[in-house]
Amino acid sequence: MERLWEVLDRPVGRRPAVAARVTPYVYAVLLVTLGVVCRLTLEPLLGDRVVFLFFVPALLIAAATGGLAPGLTATALSVGAGLMLLSRYRTVVGNEIDGVVFTCLGVVIAVGGQRLRAAQSHAAEMSRHVLDRQAHLASILDTVPDAMVVTDEEGFVQSFSPVAETLFQWSKAEVVGQNFLILMTPSDREALESDMERRAAAGEGRTIGIRRILTGQRKDGSTFPLDLFVGVTNSNGHRFFTGFVRDLTERHTAEARLQELQAELLHVSRLSAMGEMASSLAHELNQPLSAISNYLRGGRRLLETENRDSRALPAIEKAADQALRAGDIIRHMRNFIAGGESDRGETSLNGLLEEASELGLVGAHERGIDTRFDLSPAVDAVEVDRVQVQQVVLNLLRNAIEAMKDSPRRELSVTTSAAGDMAMVSVSDTGHGISPEVADKLFQPFVSTKSGQGMGVGLSICRGIIEAHGGRIWTEPNPPGGTIFRFTLPRATREADVAAQRKEVA
Ligand code: ADP
Repeated sequence: MERLWEVLDRPVGRRPAVAARVTPYVYAVLLVTLGVVCRLTLEPLLGDRVVFLFFVPALLIAAATGGLAPGLTATALSVGAGLMLLSRYRTVVGNEIDGVVFTCLGVVIAVGGQRLRAAQSHAAEMSRHVLDRQAHLASILDTVPDAMVVTDEEGFVQSFSPVAETLFQWSKAEVVGQNFLILMTPSDREALESDMERRAAAGEGRTIGIRRILTGQRKDGSTFPLDLFVGVTNSNGHRFFTGFVRDLTERHTAEARLQELQAELLHVSRLSAMGEMASSLAHELNQPLSAISNYLRGGRRLLETENRDSRALPAIEKAADQALRAGDIIRHMRNFIAGGESDRGETSLNGLLEEASELGLVGAHERGIDTRFDLSPAVDAVEVDRVQVQQVVLNLLRNAIEAMKDSPRRELSVTTSAAGDMAMVSVSDTGHGISPEVADKLFQPFVSTKSGQGMGVGLSICRGIIEAHGGRIWTEPNPPGGTIFRFTLPRATREADVAAQRKEVA
């Protein structure tokens, strides 16, 4: 009995306050007293019959409000009071049986009351737990940096987070119940509508895809780029869509800034290369040029004499030699600028191109440029200075992007293929093509059609780098319009490479 008591009376959840624990005993005492009073009042009518029935309310209420202990207390009090009332009559067997039955019933009701209270307190604990979790979840959702919009299957907004209120400038009250499409620009609304209808027809429900980049519209009509991620939940047979919206304005600004910085870097690197080349050339050329001028002056003096001194001839020859030396110096300087401090080694051409493109194509997508890569694994291994060749690729990509600035069709592709024992890289664009005025001196320094912006040395440095590697660079018109720049690089002869080549041939 003690164990049963412990089990049944074990507190579930929080302990009730003292007043709440005492109240059921007070009910038991009061209701048993009331039962005695009522029974005594009705005694002329009832005689010695129906004694214990008057204590049933005390039993029920004490057990329901206090559980086992108050229920048993009410039972004991009731049995005592009943026996006291019965003692005034002669022993009536039926009433004693009533007393035993009542006692058993009292114990059962007290146990039942305890169970009821345990269930009640468990339910209260559960609902408190659910409320706590709900509050915790709400606090998390309120602090996530993404705006959150929950819609039903028809697209009507059910919930709108505080971040969404800040982002779209609509208040929750204004948006809930409206179609979420009011948060998009009219053109995106149409596109999303037709997309949702297409998906609904395909049996996917009116979803809008998992992730998309769209243009959001604030209450004041201003627009901003956003990244939308949609999650689907099922609740009671209904589907709900939770959209997480991230404002991309900052990212776009950062990308644009990166692009500007990169352009500046390219410019500075060209300038420094030029400055270096110019000062070295000035220094180195000074010697042969003054020698040429001395030889020619001497030669002229010898020729001015009446008998035309034959020593003029070697002087003029020497002048010619010096002129050739000046040419050599210029070539040497170009190679130095292009290939000086070269760090050549076997490297992956595809990896090199991908890395350079990552930098060179920043912002290309936003400019509506479609990029395509077709990189052959068979010519992947090359023997080059990785950084220098990346400089070439970067240059060609930037030129291609600039050339397509005003083109209706903007397609940029980078492909690799084998060209004899060399690897060939092609960068093609659908831009304005090479202007006829620069076509025949494209790779010479200071040739540019970019008034005020171009230094016109990018391609000449590219040629220097490629030629220093033993390759060649040239252009071809792109059949759909635009230009293809091609250059070749020495391949690294590796067994794996040779095997891949054989496989390709097979
Ligand atoms: P810059 O960038 O200073 O103009 P470059 O040597 O890079 O110097 O290019 C020289 C010129 O070649 C450019 O001004 C442009 O007219 C032309 N050019 C280069 N690439 C392309 C291209 N992809 N399409 C059309 N013209 C190009």
